[in-house]
Amino acid sequence: MSFVIPAPPTASVEIAGTDDRFPVRRIYCIGRNYLAHIRELGNDERKPPFFFQKPADALLPSGGDFPYPPQSNDVHHEIELVVAIAKGGKNIAAADALNHVYGYSLGIDMTRRDQQNKAKKDGKPWEAAKGFDHSAPISSIHPASDIGHPAKGRIWLAVNGDIRQDSDLDLQIWNVQEGISHLSKLYEVMPGDLIYTGTPDGVGPVVTGDVMTGGIDGIGEIEIKVV
Ligand code: MN
Repeated sequence: MSFVIPAPPTASVEIAGTDDRFPVRRIYCIGRNYLAHIRELGNDERKPPFFFQKPADALLPSGGDFPYPPQSNDVHHEIELVVAIAKGGKNIAAADALNHVYGYSLGIDMTRRDQQNKAKKDGKPWEAAKGFDHSAPISSIHPASDIGHPAKGRIWLAVNGDIRQDSDLDLQIWNVQEGISHLSKLYEVMPGDLIYTGTPDGVGPVVTGDVMTGGIDGIGEIEIKVV
């Protein structure tokens, strides 16, 4: 057997401080996962999380250029904690979920907000709003064996040095283990999956020439230029 055209390369992400790479199968993203005042709301306010996907070849490594996408005039940044899955499973219990994690990174869920708003209004899929080329900037992955499983810590994003998003991981409505558990009830989670775990408040537009920087305490930083 041979492929009739050259096989596409396997998408992958750098492991921090090494020459090794994490091969990527799928990119899942959690929808809304922070509330600015979650502690003022009761647990009974929680609604089930929802998920969408980006294609694996949408990944853009930190330090790279983000080409402003066509068919949009309102492209937003969403800084997010990213979980890298090493061990697959279905119906994973939250209490067991961290045993499935390889490590952590941070990413920016770039979003064509105008396309997304139109899709919501028309009852259509978010595909073009979320899964476009280069829509998944990501920093290098830190193994959990090095950094543990961060459950709190500052998560922030700045545009041209001005802080736009500034929150804490402990404000996630669904923490990492709960997110994995929910996802694994919808899909069989597999080694090589990434999960973008949702963004805090402060999302907003970027324009060509902007430089986005972001970070999560204990996980690292990312820098992406809009071109
Ligand atoms: Mn997002």
